[in-house]
Amino acid sequence: MRILKFGGSSVQDAVKIRHVISLVQKAEKGGGKLCVVCSAMKGVTDELIRAAKTAEAGSADYCGIIAGIRDRQVRAVEGLFPEAGRERALAPLLADCGELLDILHGIELVRECSLRSLDLVMSFGERLNCRLIASAMESGGMAASYFDARGLIVTDDHFGSGRVNFKASYRKIGRRLCAAKGIAFVTGFIAATPEGVTTTLGRNGSDYTAAILAAALNADCLEVWKDVDGVLSADPTVVKDAFVIDEVSYEEAMEMSFFGAEIIHPYTMRPILERDIPLLVRNTMNPGAPGTRIARNIRRHSRPITNIASIEDVALVNVEGSGMMGMPGIASRVFAALAKADVNVIMISQASSEHSICIVFRADQAKRALAGLKAELTRELEARQIENFQLIKDLEIVAVIGENMRGTPGLSGRLFSALGKKKINVLAIAQGSSERNISFVVEGRDRREAINTVHRAFFR
Ligand code: ASP
Ligand code: MG
Repeated sequence: MRILKFGGSSVQDAVKIRHVISLVQKAEKGGGKLCVVCSAMKGVTDELIRAAKTAEAGSADYCGIIAGIRDRQVRAVEGLFPEAGRERALAPLLADCGELLDILHGIELVRECSLRSLDLVMSFGERLNCRLIASAMESGGMAASYFDARGLIVTDDHFGSGRVNFKASYRKIGRRLCAAKGIAFVTGFIAATPEGVTTTLGRNGSDYTAAILAAALNADCLEVWKDVDGVLSADPTVVKDAFVIDEVSYEEAMEMSFFGAEIIHPYTMRPILERDIPLLVRNTMNPGAPGTRIARNIRRHSRPITNIASIEDVALVNVEGSGMMGMPGIASRVFAALAKADVNVIMISQASSEHSICIVFRADQAKRALAGLKAELTRELEARQIENFQLIKDLEIVAVIGENMRGTPGLSGRLFSALGKKKINVLAIAQGSSERNISFVVEGRDRREAINTVHRAFFR
């Protein structure tokens, strides 16, 4: 059993879908059972969100947005089916678009779009496209069946990013997919509560869908087909000679996705590593390329690090004060305040003088963070135990990641002296005790230079 997942840019129009179908046919000849997970067409989820927001604002302009999505799907039908077969593909498509317009009309009338309603609206992107691809496959003479993942994956009602109930989901998947006729085509991204209310797994969640299916079916491997040749040593738009890495460990891949390498959705790794299922990242537009293999037992390479990742647009708060020295409990109050303000802390560093703690989060949470800290620690501020909260914006976290860093002395020396030579100012540093990553904060404007400098220092 193999699970193949195709992202939005791989299935964005008739030409691409035809190509995906030929890849699936080829994979089928390789033997074994196949299950294919598809995303919405590229850009469609964003358009659906825009439609929902437009309706919520009381405007009927969402009609035009939905017409645009419908036309894309209709054009794909025209490109994929002979004239005689189109009717059968068009009927459910038009029915779904009608239902979607009804839902949006409801949102327009009540001028309110809850996360729950938004999940329902977003679910149409995957449903329209995946059903279309399955029926195109069938009309080409292959046995295929379409599955709406709302009947397979069970989550709680945390709308916008439902938390998966693995036990219930595995049971449903095992029962329903094993009985599937031919190749099973499953919608990515969407799921349902035990009561059957539509949820989603969070943006770009189709990878996660595929991983859940892989684990439930105990697949031999999970292939994620994207529009890049594999996992790269750095962002190729920043580093000209970024290269494809042939093998990556699960842990490295998790660190990478955490640090914003958009290659794999961060939750994806968990279900597959529990069952030791390897993940292949492959390029739809370059199927001959070997891609990247993510697995437990990888061949060790001799490069000092594996990859450089980064998170753009972060901010940092420095909590400073001599009164913090030897005062247990202040750190916990700081983090409690941030949690209460719903701030997601990405990185922390504390100097051993205990004079300051530095906390990094996304820039759009800065206001909340500062307000939360001031409210929680008024007493310490008044008593001057904490001098102030210093906020610095327009920053970037850069992380160097790799198994080989463990127990290798001298790496951070090499890293920071390379940055020093380029006069790149480092505002904060953290190393996890896993020793699989060192992350540091630089000013946003130093981003390109910093990443290139590090790439040169380790890969030349
Ligand atoms: N269509 C969804 C999104 O754009 C899920 C996915 O593409 O993985 O977020
Ligand atoms: Mg997408």
